[in-house]
Parts: sequence; C-alpha cells; structure tokens
Amino acid sequence: MAAGGNPTAAGCLYVVATPIGHRDDLSQRAIATLRAVDVIACEDTRHSAVLLNGIGADGKRLALHDHNEDAASHGLIAQMLAGTRVALISDAGTPLVSDPGFRLVRAAAAAGVRVVPIPGPSALIAALSVAGLPTDRFSFEGFLPNRSGARRELLRGLRSDARTLVFYEARHRIVESLRDMRDELGAERAVVVARELTKTFETVLRGTLGEVLRSIESNPEQQLGEFVVMLAGIASVDHEQARLDEGARILKLLLAELPASRAVRLAAEISGAPKNALYKLVDG
Ligand code: SAM
Repeated sequence: MAAGGNPTAAGCLYVVATPIGHRDDLSQRAIATLRAVDVIACEDTRHSAVLLNGIGADGKRLALHDHNEDAASHGLIAQMLAGTRVALISDAGTPLVSDPGFRLVRAAAAAGVRVVPIPGPSALIAALSVAGLPTDRFSFEGFLPNRSGARRELLRGLRSDARTLVFYEARHRIVESLRDMRDELGAERAVVVARELTKTFETVLRGTLGEVLRSIESNPEQQLGEFVVMLAGIASVDHEQARLDEGARILKLLLAELPASRAVRLAAEISGAPKNALYKLVDG
C-alpha cells in the first residue's frame, strides 16, 4: 500500500491534524492512522490522552515539544529508518503551524524518511474561510511579539502590505494587540476577529479596527478564548482615509516638537494627506 493510503506504511512519518475545538472534526483517515501507528509524538502527552484514548489509539506516546525536539527527533528517525510507523500531533490543529514539528520533519526528510500529511483542521484556514476578506493572497504572521515596542515595529512594517494579514492571538493580549494595530494601521482598516472557532462560544466580529476594538473592549466575554485576527491588506483600504490616518499619526508626533503650522506642513508632505484636513486635527 502506498504511504499516502491506509493502512499506514512502515517507516513513515505521518503529520496528523487534530480538531481545534469540535471533536467531530477529526477525520476518518486521521483516526485510522493514529490507531495504526507504533508511536505517537505529541506536543503534550497528557493533553492528547483524551483524544487518543477516545479513539482507541494505543501506540506508544512520547512528548515532542520546543524544548526537546532535536533530541527526540534523533531517536525517532533511527526508529523510522528501522521500519517504525510514527505519527506527529500537536495540542490542536495542524502540527508545525505555530506548533512544534518543523525540525522533526526537516530531519526526517533529510534522512530519507517519507513524510505523509493527514490534513485537517487549522485555525488559520478555518478563520480565513469565514472572514470574507480576499484570500487569493495572504500573509500568515503567527503570534505577534510580546513586547509592545517590537509588536508596533512589526506592524509598521506591514502597513503597506496589499495581502490579507493573519495573526494568532491569545486572550491575555487581544485588546493590547488590537490597540497597537489601530494605532499603527489606522482605525478605518477592515478587520475580522474569529474567536473560539468550532467551539460553543464561536464568534466572528467584522468591521473597522476602531469599531471591533470598541466592541471587544466593552465586552469582557469577548476577550476570552482563542483568536485569529485578520486585517484587510492596503489594496482594499480606502487610500484617501489611509493617507489621512498616516498624516494624523505623523502630526501627533511632530506636534510634540514643532509649532502647529510646521508640523502640519511636514505631516502633509510625508503622508500625502491634505493640509486643511490635518489643520482640523490640531485642536481637536
Ligand atoms: N496548530 C494550530 C493550528 O493549526 O491552528 C495552532 C496552534 S497555536 C499554538 C494556537 C493558536 O491558534 C491560538 O492562540 C489561537 O490564536 C489559534 N487557535 C487555535 N484554535 C482556535 C480556535 N478554535 N479559534 C480561534 N483561534 C484558534
């Protein structure tokens, strides 16, 4: 049987996607593979025990996470070269997508081990599929840096990106990150925030960064859970508004150092926003 078919073939590494919430999203092929393999490498063996016990997958379980990936990979590759069938899973969704596994897959491929995908859920694709933003081109940015300074710098670098931008975000930082996005990319930028996908409290909020941020700030329940934040690329933003947002941002910085007339002239020149529109912002 080919490595891509069922049942599993000897000596292969199967990269198996597991649910991001709803347990019925585990595919038939994922179940068959997890039942058939000899070893299951889990990001967290205790976390995955519920899922694996539930489907009667009784292969040997071992932990493979960011802190032991190189050492664990070494042993696994030797076993696979000797014919052992191995599956890799993460706590949720598709391994390697903001999850461990890339070093194992790279080393396995380099050693001549066949690596077989068992595709399925990923928060990235589930979120994009309901956002209603252009998906012909998008940039997956994963998690933003923890520190606000680094976060803002990264966002500034993405300001003129024409692609839809996708971020993963955790509950303790959702409000802070949305504030930084609004400040760096403008309150009028279209955003979609997908929360708790496939779970009981699934919510998809759509609007401008200003609107969606206000709605989440004023509703603590909307700050709970797991999030995917998707921003429209610059091409789908109103260019005039984008120039005005940029002008307003520059003006705010310059007003701290310069008289109003000079600050307005420079901000208009740098951003391309009309001077009269910027003058209106000076006292208001
Ligand atoms: N490998 C996973 C995947 O394929 O989606 C992602 C793992 S990453 C460590 C976890 C992050 O994914 C969360 O912080 C959140 O941003 C996003 N995520 C995972 N499950 C989600 C869900 N049900 N709804 C929204 N976002 C989710």
